Amino acid sequence: MKHDTDAGTCERQRLAQGNVAAVERCSCGVIKLVMGPMTLRFDADALVDLQQTLSAALAELRGRTSAVPTPVFASMPRGQA
Ligand SMILES: [Zn+2]
Repeated sequence: MKHDTDAGTCERQRLAQGNVAAVERCSCGVIKLVMGPMTLRFDADALVDLQQTLSAALAELRGRTSAVPTPVFASMPRGQA
């Protein structure tokens, strides 16, 4: 199925919500990462790869400092995309 929210053929389900981002699954299979005014689309494999990259970055940060810095996007308003 083609991703098309304008035509109403796609239904969204919110999978998770944090202070910085939300993750939604579309009925067509697209997974959306919503951060403030920005929405990134992934397939499931790409989302897993992103999670692994973020985990590796956090592990690297923890290895270099005693505290993880505040995320840059922490002050952004929550998106409604
Ligand atoms: Zn869709």
